[in-house]
Amino acid sequence: MSTIEQTAPAASNFLRTIIDEDVKSGRHTTIVTRFPPEPNGYLHIGHAKSICINFGLARDFGGRCHLRFDDTNPAKEEQEYIDSIKESVRWLGFDWGENLHYASDYFEQLYQWAEYLIREGKAYVEDLNAEEMRAYRGTLTEAGKESPYRNRSVEENLDLFRRMKAGEFPDGARVLRARIDMASSNMNLRDPVLYRIIHAPHPHVGDAWKIYPMYDFAHGQSDAIEGITHSICTLEFEDHKPLYEWFLENLPVPSKPRQYEFARLNLTYTVMSKRKLQELVQLGIVSGWDDPRLPTLMGIKRRGYTAAAVRAFCETIGVGRSDSWIDMSILEECVRTDLNETAPRAMAVLRPLKVVIDNWPAGEVEEIVAPNHPQKPEMGSRTVHFSREIWIDSDDFMEDPPKGFHRLMVGGEVKLRFGYIVKCTGVVKDEDGRILELRCQYDPGSREGIHTSDGRKVKGVIHWVSASHAVNAEVRLFDRLFSDPNPDRGGVDYKQFLNPLSVERLSGCKLEASLAAADRETRFQFERLGYFRQDPKDSLPGQPVFNRVVTLRDAWTKK
Ligand code: ATP
Ligand code: MG
Repeated sequence: MSTIEQTAPAASNFLRTIIDEDVKSGRHTTIVTRFPPEPNGYLHIGHAKSICINFGLARDFGGRCHLRFDDTNPAKEEQEYIDSIKESVRWLGFDWGENLHYASDYFEQLYQWAEYLIREGKAYVEDLNAEEMRAYRGTLTEAGKESPYRNRSVEENLDLFRRMKAGEFPDGARVLRARIDMASSNMNLRDPVLYRIIHAPHPHVGDAWKIYPMYDFAHGQSDAIEGITHSICTLEFEDHKPLYEWFLENLPVPSKPRQYEFARLNLTYTVMSKRKLQELVQLGIVSGWDDPRLPTLMGIKRRGYTAAAVRAFCETIGVGRSDSWIDMSILEECVRTDLNETAPRAMAVLRPLKVVIDNWPAGEVEEIVAPNHPQKPEMGSRTVHFSREIWIDSDDFMEDPPKGFHRLMVGGEVKLRFGYIVKCTGVVKDEDGRILELRCQYDPGSREGIHTSDGRKVKGVIHWVSASHAVNAEVRLFDRLFSDPNPDRGGVDYKQFLNPLSVERLSGCKLEASLAAADRETRFQFERLGYFRQDPKDSLPGQPVFNRVVTLRDAWTKK
């Protein structure tokens, strides 16, 4: 179940078609899906696709979606990951309700089923070591060889398996294998391992177990225990499907879920492998799992992306069965589309250049009411202050501008958004020739519109902030973490494609006064600069830090 109301009918896809047919034919009355993360890392945007598919289908068909931790490998799993996964799923707007599950809650049942397979002559304890097992396994073109331990008696197998469980043997000494077919053309059916010995405490069930089931043995049976109807996973599990079905056929399971595969999300300019994300964190290349440049949901959230934008992205990219690449710009565009609707506008100057308006009386302030959104009067307005000294962005002025530069230059005119047209009359420099400030004259008849008192139209409109009213802030501008569209292409170290300019921290930025009281959650459009929100960790009262969530597509078309 989900807390998200569907606003538009979801686009159809092959999974919807399958479920539609299952509902129509009466095969299922209630649709049950699940999202099954292994708690060995943080969720990323690829997982968001899977979450939206599974929770979205359950929502749209009036069924339910379980959150199930596939926690079969205690060596790599931690409570910290469990907590952050729950937080990320909730942040995306989905609710598993009563249906929070752990594969480890089924360990006893899985163990009983393993004994069942042994008694049926369908599983055996293997003494070959990992290397020998590999050698016996054969290749894609060559059948495997049967292990000398394959024909142990049921009694011997039960005895050894129970002793494995009791912790009598060290890690790796033995495994339990299914007895299927060492000559199968599907490698997954060549007597796959069901259980291994791991002497390690488990984050959810403590130190009750010395043996742990393999993913393949746990996954489908967990689905069956929970009454999952449609077990939806990514394409790399297609080859595991015969094994998934073999277990369901050979065990007295309470239900028979079906597995369906879809193409995983591949996104350009980033990496999504847990190992690589972990490496970026451990090497200090990023500031943590929630670094705003990472594709982790914690990073995306911290950066200021909205959950609605991420859901819209997952809807936009659709669900198919062929592998493809999605360009990062599609994700960014979804964020822009959402924020364009919802973000109040404000003015901020990132690289301040002082402007003194000589014909404006010192100490006089004009309060100007500026709408918060140009198309949405219902979003209200705020006051901006016009005064003698203001800040503009230093790149809105050029001493020696190229043709077509419509911002400020000596002798040129520009409209200050919501304020007046000013004409630059001179530049004040220090001994080294650095610009200290600009001197300007304002045109008293130019408050409304973009025409001078004598009827000339100015081409450029720039943002500005009153110097005596400005709020000081740090602003962080993010760019893509990698400068290559496919850093994870293999064969080369992905780290060589890191973008050295992926973050720029600007201090001494000037924000309009209304932002002093800004709600921490609100995303703003800083006019001409992009969408921004306070950093949830580093922004402090009186010392705001704003992250740029995403640029404006057309920010500099007037450049
Ligand atoms: P690994 O198995 O290597 O630890 P994983 O990314 O597959 O990493 P899981 O915790 O197993 O992590 O993933 C949980 C679910 O999310 C699985 O059903 C998986 O298929 C799905 N998933 C993972 N990555 C993507 C992706 N890029 N696109 C869509 N779904 C994904
Ligand atoms: Mg996985």
